[in-house]
Amino acid sequence: MNTASVVDLYKEYILPTYIQTPLVLVKGKGARVWDIEGNEYLDFFPGWAVSGLGHCHPKVVKALKIQASKIMHVSNNYYNELQGQLAKRIVDSSFPGRVFFANSGAEANECAIKLARRYGNKDKRYEIITMTGSFHGRTMATIAATGQDKVKIGFEPLLEGFKHVPFNDFDALKNAVTEKTVAIMLEPIQGEGGINVADKDYLRKAKELCSSKDMLLIFDEVQTGMGRCGKLFAYQQLGMTPDVMTLAKSLGSGTPIGATVVSERIATTLPPSSHASTFGGSPLICSAALATFEAIEEEGLLENAVKMGEYIKKKVEKLKKKYPIIKSVKGIALMIGVELNIEGDEIYRECLKNKLLINCTQKNILRIMPPLTVKKKDINKALSVLEGVFSRVK
Ligand SMILES: *Cc1c(COP(=O)(O)O)cnc(C)c1O
Repeated sequence: MNTASVVDLYKEYILPTYIQTPLVLVKGKGARVWDIEGNEYLDFFPGWAVSGLGHCHPKVVKALKIQASKIMHVSNNYYNELQGQLAKRIVDSSFPGRVFFANSGAEANECAIKLARRYGNKDKRYEIITMTGSFHGRTMATIAATGQDKVKIGFEPLLEGFKHVPFNDFDALKNAVTEKTVAIMLEPIQGEGGINVADKDYLRKAKELCSSKDMLLIFDEVQTGMGRCGKLFAYQQLGMTPDVMTLAKSLGSGTPIGATVVSERIATTLPPSSHASTFGGSPLICSAALATFEAIEEEGLLENAVKMGEYIKKKVEKLKKKYPIIKSVKGIALMIGVELNIEGDEIYRECLKNKLLINCTQKNILRIMPPLTVKKKDINKALSVLEGVFSRVK
C-alpha cells in the first residue's frame, strides 16, 4: 500500500470524525517515525502525548511480548497480579489511595465524575465546576465537563450539573460554588486549552475551598501525568495534592489505559457493582504501564525532562528575540507551548514538509512535547527546522 491507497480506505470505511494529515505512519523508534514511503520524521508530539517514552521503548516492547504469551486479559471478576502491582506503583508515587482502571482519558474522567456524583448523593449535591478552555474527553459526561463549546455542538441536551469558570480566577471559582456543588475539576496545566499553567496560589485556595465545603478536588492529569512536567505528576510540581487524579495518555506508552486515582478517605465511595470496565486493568496493558514506570525511574527521565525542557525554552526565547511572530513561551519541563502572534496552521504544515511533527492548538499555540527520552541533538535539529520555517513566514 501507499499513502493514497490508505487514505482511500479511510475515505470509504472510516467515519469522517477527524481532521487528518495525509501521513501514514508505519514505524517508530524513540523520537522518530517513518511513513509508508520510507520518509523519516522527527516526532515532537508523539501520539498526541501518548508515547511519552518515545515510540517502541525497548522495556515496554519486552514487557508486552512476555505478557502477551502468558495471559492477555483477565476479567475483573477474578484477580490479576499486574493490576494490583500497577495500582501500588501509582499510589506509592502519588498519594495514599486506590485506583480504578479503564481504557482512556475520557473514561478515567467519567469515573471521577460518577464518584463525585455518588459522593454528593447523600446531601443531594451534584454540581461540578470545571474551567473555561478545559478538555476532559468526548463522552457525553466529559463533553459536558469540557469548557469549550466546540465539543458540544449538536449533542444537546447535555448532561446537567456542570458549570464553567475562567481558569486561574479564584473569585470566579468561589462565587460559582452553591449548596449543590460537590467537586471542582481542572487540569493543572491545560493542554488542548493552550498550555495554561495553574498558579500555585490558585490551587492552594481551590484546595482550601474544597476542604471547607466538603467538595472534591479533581485533577485531570491525562496529559500532564507520567513525567511530562518533570515530576511524575504535575500536581507535585505545583504543590497541591488533589482528592482524585485521572491519568491516561502516556501511562501505557501507547497501549490504551486510563486510571482514576482516589484518595483513601473517599476510596469506598463507589461500592461493588457501581462501576466497571471489561477491559480495564488487563494484565497486558498493566505490563506496559509498569514498564513505563520502570523506564522513567531507571533512565532518569524526570531529570531529563526538566533539563531538556529548560534547553528548549532557552532556545525558543532566543528565537523570540529574532522573530516577532513569537509572542510567548509557556509550560513546564517538556510540556511547552509557543504562543504566536499569527495562526499556527501554516507553521505546522511547513514543519511537516520539513519532516518535523508538532501540534498547533487554539489556533495560535504550537505544542512541543517531545518524548521524555529526547536528546539535545534532536532538539537542535527540530529547532533549526522551526527557525527555518519562522524565517520564511516572517
Ligand atoms: C486527551 C485528554 C483527555 C481525553 O482522553 P481520551 O483518551 O482521548 O479519552 C482528557 N483530558 C485531557 C486533559 C486530555 O488531554
